[in-house]
Amino acid sequence: MAFAYPVSSCYSFHNLCSNAFSREPNLKPRKILTTLNKIHRFPLFHRPAICRTDYFSLWEGRDSSKSNIFASVASADAVLDEAVEKALLPKGDTWSIHKFGGTCVGTSERIRNVADIIVKDKSERKLVVVSAMAKVTDMMYDLIFKAQSRDDSYTNALDAVLEKHKSTAIDLLEGDGLTKFISRLHQDISNLKAMLRAIYVAGHATESFSDFVVGHGELWSAQLLSSVIRKNGLDCNYMDTRDVLVVNPASSNQVDPDYLESGKRLEKWYTDNPYNIIVATGFIASTPQNIPTTLKRDGSDFSAAIMGALFRARQVTIWTDVDGVYSADPRKVSEAVILKTLSYQEAWEMSYFGANVLHPRTIIPVMKYDIPIVIRNIFNLSAPGTMICRPVVCENENDQGLVSPVKGFATIDHVALVNVEGTGMAGVPGTASSIFSAVKDVGANVVMISQASSEHSVCFAVPEKEVKTVSTALESRFRQALGAGRLSQIAVIPNCSILATVGQKMASTPGVSATLFNALAKANINIRAIAQGCSEYNVTVVVKREDCIRALRAVHSRFYLSRTTIAMGIIGPGLIGGTLLDQLRDQAAVLKEKFNIDLRVMGITGSRTMLLSDE
Ligand code: ADP
Ligand code: ASP
Ligand code: MG
Repeated sequence: MAFAYPVSSCYSFHNLCSNAFSREPNLKPRKILTTLNKIHRFPLFHRPAICRTDYFSLWEGRDSSKSNIFASVASADAVLDEAVEKALLPKGDTWSIHKFGGTCVGTSERIRNVADIIVKDKSERKLVVVSAMAKVTDMMYDLIFKAQSRDDSYTNALDAVLEKHKSTAIDLLEGDGLTKFISRLHQDISNLKAMLRAIYVAGHATESFSDFVVGHGELWSAQLLSSVIRKNGLDCNYMDTRDVLVVNPASSNQVDPDYLESGKRLEKWYTDNPYNIIVATGFIASTPQNIPTTLKRDGSDFSAAIMGALFRARQVTIWTDVDGVYSADPRKVSEAVILKTLSYQEAWEMSYFGANVLHPRTIIPVMKYDIPIVIRNIFNLSAPGTMICRPVVCENENDQGLVSPVKGFATIDHVALVNVEGTGMAGVPGTASSIFSAVKDVGANVVMISQASSEHSVCFAVPEKEVKTVSTALESRFRQALGAGRLSQIAVIPNCSILATVGQKMASTPGVSATLFNALAKANINIRAIAQGCSEYNVTVVVKREDCIRALRAVHSRFYLSRTTIAMGIIGPGLIGGTLLDQLRDQAAVLKEKFNIDLRVMGITGSRTMLLSDE
């Protein structure tokens, strides 16, 4: 028998110190001051103005919506142009940029592999951006968390960080190179110890303190890699990108590069260090006031792209642990396929909506200069990877091109929907503006917006952790309208996920949305909200979190596998059932190719044993 079913502050430095000293008189003031001055890369405590609240007020008035990222591109581009045009360093095609993620440099053996790749790259000039060794950034954040929670174990955790890097260095280096690295490592650890002690005593870490601490992973991995490359006989120098990259805080979790200033600093740096192979720290940068900062989590991709633009490089290669960008997160959809090419726009949409193989902001710096990004797998050098470039080039260069209207799917979990409803909204100018200015005032990030054409409701998605603040702010802003009945409700729907369908060709292909919704309907998935951008590069739906993976698999199989998926269960795999199974195995490929039928056996049961499979 067969059955079928659908598949598918300033808490200023002064404050912090005085707090620390008053609570712990034994704390060594000189040591803390030395460390704090080091953060600022010049004696902060002779320059008190720098830690006044003005700097921190820059963090306010932020605007984090997706459209703003693109809106800022034009002006950033103009500045970037100017920076690069004036630069004296040899820029252009002679440079290739490589970025190695944490897993690529996770062990001494892997660091050796990375060095090999660099040695073998025939480019005339190379800039290598590295992340911290795998898990190190998490370990560093954990140090801060422990110290500010007044948990003593931060000292043991710091020892573990020291040990990890020491043993890696001993494996990789010898002689002078090793001595220098170990001595600098000990010095850094001793500074970190003093700083964490201050955080422990104060029970608080400012964002600058955290950024300074967590950025050490990149400092160490870059030094290790450059020493190994030198050991291989190549002349190579290490770049602490805090000396070059200047960024301004843009929102709670974003920074905007200052291309003009970064370009100037890069030129100065290059004049002092005219090397053809440079190993640079990913993730870290400085503010215009020379305070160390970061490009925020997973920011090394972004570092590489900024460097690519500043050098006008030929290509940026991002090395990671998968063969390229898949049509869906390979951890969620085992049938996901590697995409040979993606346009910049598609890659941006995929990463914005959760494909964390690429940091969403990576695309912007390289796009204007048509610098291609190639995503490659360090563990599978034979895989060509995914090329992200301008569509016209992509189309000519491979058969996949933009043929399929849908390129990929991505999901964001942990979002909540906020639904503002009421008959009094229709035809009243400024309602949407009031809603979103209330949301902006609490610094929440709106991931997507959908408005009913009747204007009776506006519905938008925000990260789950921000929804409480958002709904409270809206209730207070619209208290009068709610009281007067012009608004009927401000409802929160928790536990949602966003599923985005991305493809540049969707804009000119009718029926894509119908196919999408049909696949979801067949899988019995209830859609809570829908949004389609004017660009039509993506169609986004909001579903219940528990339905998300099923929804993802259903739409993926509809676009990528077959229009007709038949899921079968075989009861009684005896002689006849067994023969049927053999036939199915032999014919499945033919059925798919000739008739576009995807026939799958998802369950087999005998009298004692039952086998079930999701796929
Ligand atoms: P790195 O440390 O090298 O920057 P990340 O962990 O940030 O690597 O990104 C790579 C991971 O992204 C992969 O291991 C994969 O599990 C995940 N990922 C999510 N969505 C996709 C996708 N669509 N294509 C490829 N990888 C994806
Ligand atoms: N090491 C940083 C992080 O883990 C940056 C990066 O790896 O991209 O977030
Ligand atoms: Mg990453």
